[in-house]
Amino acid sequence: MKTMRAMLLDAPGRSLRLAELPVPTPEPGQVLLKVNACGVCHTDLHIMDGELTQPKLPLVLGHQIVGTVVGTRSGATRFQSGERVGVPWLGATDGTCRYCNRGQENLCDHPSFTGYHTDGGFAEYTLADERYCFPLPPDYNDIEAAPLLCAGLIGYRSYRMAGNQLESLGIYGFGAAAHIITQVAKFEGRKVFAFTRPGDQSAQEFALRQGADWAGDSDREPPEKLDGALIFAPIGPLVVAALKATHKGGVVVCGGIHMSDIPTFPYNLLWEERVIRSVANLTRRDGEEFLDLAPRVPIRTDVTVFPLERVGEALDQLRDGQFVGAAVVTLEKA
Ligand SMILES: [Zn+2]
Ligand SMILES: [Zn+2]
Repeated sequence: MKTMRAMLLDAPGRSLRLAELPVPTPEPGQVLLKVNACGVCHTDLHIMDGELTQPKLPLVLGHQIVGTVVGTRSGATRFQSGERVGVPWLGATDGTCRYCNRGQENLCDHPSFTGYHTDGGFAEYTLADERYCFPLPPDYNDIEAAPLLCAGLIGYRSYRMAGNQLESLGIYGFGAAAHIITQVAKFEGRKVFAFTRPGDQSAQEFALRQGADWAGDSDREPPEKLDGALIFAPIGPLVVAALKATHKGGVVVCGGIHMSDIPTFPYNLLWEERVIRSVANLTRRDGEEFLDLAPRVPIRTDVTVFPLERVGEALDQLRDGQFVGAAVVTLEKA
């Protein structure tokens, strides 16, 4: 039996360990991918920490996969062997529930999430349902493309949810999603105000390099009011800070899958038609729109690369906010 290297999570609260696993065999409708690169995401931390409570165990994490099709099974005819595809968090849906029927597959009652319900991309090979894979724009190499698949996609859905009348956009938490969405917002003519952990000079300088008009501490008020705010840091009090910073009718979008509790706040912060909303997952349509837009901006991803065996270090550094931009695991042999 052919085997592969994979980084395995045995249970929440544990570290990932290097394991030798059988190369998986595709089911009907699936493609077998040789993984070229896989982005690291804050959601991986929430799964490791047990904040998302239904993971397959043991589990291979990783849901921003750039891979090459090396095998297919009957029923999988969309991609040829040798084609490059991207695999996002939304791995499959039931296609039949009330949400799927209403074009809201991101809210499906029976979804399958990559690197959570099924093994993901921190391995040499992985499987994917071909209907949920994306062709990737040729403008990006494997490493550059990986962060587009969650940071980019979820960031883009969050950005669109903030409305299309944005003159000024606040972004709270300046990591992988923020650095991508700043470029989109500037391309579309918005002013961008970037908020980081108080005192995080390197993140603030990074935000300005990505085109932000202003960067400052998240406990400060921006120099002008915001039409919308995106919150990418999993910190509930930022919702209140963002509400305080918005104009009448302003929209505050929570882009993360997990967040600490939002403190109570006076109703007058919400008054005048301000909105708080969350964004959950993605639809394939979001992916198609975003991957079409990305090379036209053109979005440039700022990436720190880790070999497969060191993904644990990447996760630790992500938790501590030690690097700017996105972390990507590469499967190329050194
Ligand atoms: Zn993610
Ligand atoms: Zn469904």
